[in-house]
Amino acid sequence: MTSPSVPAAGPATATPFDDLGIAVGAGEPLAVHTWLGVGGAARYFCEPVDREALARLVRRATELGLPVRVIGGGSNVLVPDAGFPGLVVRLSAPGFCAITIDDRGSGRIEAGAGAKLVHLVTAAVQAGLAGLETLVAVPGTVGGALVGNAGARGGDIGDRVRAVTVMQADGSVEEREGARLAFGSRWSNLDDGIVLGCRLELDVEDPDQLTKRMQKQWIVERAGQPSGTRSVALLFKDPLGASAESIIAQAGCRGMRVGGASIHGTHANYVTVQAGASSDDVRALVEMVRTQVRQRLGVELAPQIESW
Ligand SMILES: Cc1cc2nc3c(=O)[nH]c(=O)nc-3n(C[C@H](O)[C@H](O)[C@H](O)COP(=O)(O)OP(=O)(O)OC[C@H]3O[C@@H](n4cnc5c(N)ncnc54)[C@H](O)[C@@H]3O)c2cc1C
Repeated sequence: MTSPSVPAAGPATATPFDDLGIAVGAGEPLAVHTWLGVGGAARYFCEPVDREALARLVRRATELGLPVRVIGGGSNVLVPDAGFPGLVVRLSAPGFCAITIDDRGSGRIEAGAGAKLVHLVTAAVQAGLAGLETLVAVPGTVGGALVGNAGARGGDIGDRVRAVTVMQADGSVEEREGARLAFGSRWSNLDDGIVLGCRLELDVEDPDQLTKRMQKQWIVERAGQPSGTRSVALLFKDPLGASAESIIAQAGCRGMRVGGASIHGTHANYVTVQAGASSDDVRALVEMVRTQVRQRLGVELAPQIESW
C-alpha cells in the first residue's frame, strides 16, 4: 500500500487528516500554547475530542511518517523558531481531564493527562489524600508532570504513580505498571508514546491539616519562582545534592542576556523573555550559561527545558 502524500500546510488549510472528520488546523502558532511565548508554528494541530479521535489521528500520522508531540501546559517546552514539522495534539477535551476518587479509603486517585496538575493536587487534598501537596506550585498538566517526573522539595510525582495509560504510535492503548515504569531525577521512561492518564496511591489523612500544609508549601514554592510574568522557564535540573540556582549564581551568570532572553536577577535558574525575543535567543542563552558554569566551576548542568 502506498502512503498518502503530505501536502504542504498553507492558507487553504487542506490537511491529510481531512477525510477523518476531525478538525485539524494547519500552521497553528505554538508560542500561544507555551509559557515562554516564543517559537514557530505546528504544521498540524488538533485538540481531539476523545481517545478514539486521538487514535485515528495518531495512526494517520504514523502512516504518513509525521512526528507527533503532545503539548501540555507548555511550561517546559522550547519550540524552535522554525516550528514543529509534524502533528501537535493538546489533550484539553473533558474526556482527557477527569479526576476520579472511587474509594477514598484505598488512597487511590485517577487523573487524565490533560488535567492541570494543580487541580489534581487540590482534589486530592480536599479529599484528605496526602502525597501530592508538595507539587502544588508546579505549573502544567498531569501528562507533562508524569513524563518529566515533576517534583519539588519533599517528593516527585513518580513516587506515587502505580499505573500509567499510554497510547502508542499505532493508536493502541496499554496500561503500564510495576517494573515497566521508571522514574528518575526529572526523568521517566514515558517518552515513547502519548500519556493518557494515571493511577496514583496516596495516604489517607485529615483534610484540614493537609490543606494547611499545602497552603504553606504554596507560599514557600511561589517565593522561589519569578512573579508577575508567565514569560519564564526553568532552565536546568538540580545536580545531585546541589541547587542549579546557586551554581548558576556562583558562576556569575545572573542577569546574563542574549537578545530578548535573560537570566532572572533573583531566581537564577529561570530565563525570562521580553516581547520580540526568539527561541534562538533562549537556546543561545542556555548554551552560554552551561559553558560559563563548566569553565568556572567544572560542573555540567543538564537542561530541564525540552527543546523540540
Ligand atoms: C515557573 C515555573 C516553575 C516550575 N517549577 C517546577 C518544579 O518545582 N518542579 C518541576 O519538576 N518542574 C517545574 N517546572 C517545569 C514544568 O512546570 C514541569 O516540567 C511540568 O511538569 C511540565 O508540564 P507541562 O504540562 O507544562 O508540560 P509541557 O511543557 O507541555 O511538555 C513537557 C514535555 O512533556 C511532553 N508531554 C506533555 N504531556 C504529554 C503527554 N500527555 N504525553 C506524552 N508527552 C507529553 C511534551 O511533549 C514535552 O516534551 C516549572 C516551570 C515553570 C515555568
